Amino acid sequence: CRLPTCFMPNSGIPGGLARSQTPMLVYFSFDDAVTPWTKSFFDQLFKKSRTNPNGCPIAATHFNSHQNTVYKLVKELYDAGHEIASHSISHRTPTTWWRDASQAEYKEEIVGQKNNIHKYADVPLNEIRGMRVPFLQLGKDNQFNMLEKNHFLYDASMSSRSDPPSWPFTLQYPKKLVGGLCSVEPCPTEPHNLWEVPLNNFYMGSDCSSPMVDGCRPATKEAALKYIRRNFQSHYNSPNKPPFGLNMHASWFAYPQNFQAMDDFIEELISNEDVWIVPIHKVLQWTQNPTPTSELKDFEPFACNKH
Ligand SMILES: [Zn+2]
Repeated sequence: CRLPTCFMPNSGIPGGLARSQTPMLVYFSFDDAVTPWTKSFFDQLFKKSRTNPNGCPIAATHFNSHQNTVYKLVKELYDAGHEIASHSISHRTPTTWWRDASQAEYKEEIVGQKNNIHKYADVPLNEIRGMRVPFLQLGKDNQFNMLEKNHFLYDASMSSRSDPPSWPFTLQYPKKLVGGLCSVEPCPTEPHNLWEVPLNNFYMGSDCSSPMVDGCRPATKEAALKYIRRNFQSHYNSPNKPPFGLNMHASWFAYPQNFQAMDDFIEELISNEDVWIVPIHKVLQWTQNPTPTSELKDFEPFACNKH
């Protein structure tokens, strides 16, 4: 098993890099419809003046579903350097539908939404590389076989309680999904040539834990900032220094204290020379080609306006 196409779970820092030469990669992912209301938050959090150490704007990944989406705004996000990925057409209930769906049903929903994003937001098909299943309800091997057959690069649906938190990994060895790495059944049981970007659980003390940032409800701005910072620190200080994923719904920002805390937190992050805020597929490009922090300003995948 070797990079760039194979990377076992729990195998430390990619390429065996030293912690001191490993950048702190941070990614934001937002699920569901893109609307004028959600877009107003993205425009503030990812405003052009906020840049990575190479001077290029920071950006996020958007797992987009069809209903209520204003595709003109999806295009604006894409043009500003954000990554757009598929989160299904219908986002239907019940949750168990996604557990039991056939490969053909997965294709209709996930490839179907990929086609919508291409058709209505003008995003090139080969730049829609990932998916997240609604409700983080995995669909065992049907979901993953569909992704493989349709040339997706990654899934980002696996809730993980791994300690320390996990790097993204590939799925050729499903028997290695141990230690809470896949904490919501049904997990894949067959090998797949795909990347998995797990959702490492967020913890708010012992009161609350969730794969989504918005699964916990801090009462004040100070509590929200403390909550986000603590989870960042548990990644930053971990021996394997894994990427820090903030997976969430923009609806968390309906509570202004949460939005203000996130706005402050991003301002803190970008003042660090070893922190890079990039979309998920760029985290994967780094994982596939581990490049020391000292050489990262010239790392091509992180260049401005690269998709
Ligand atoms: Zn959703």
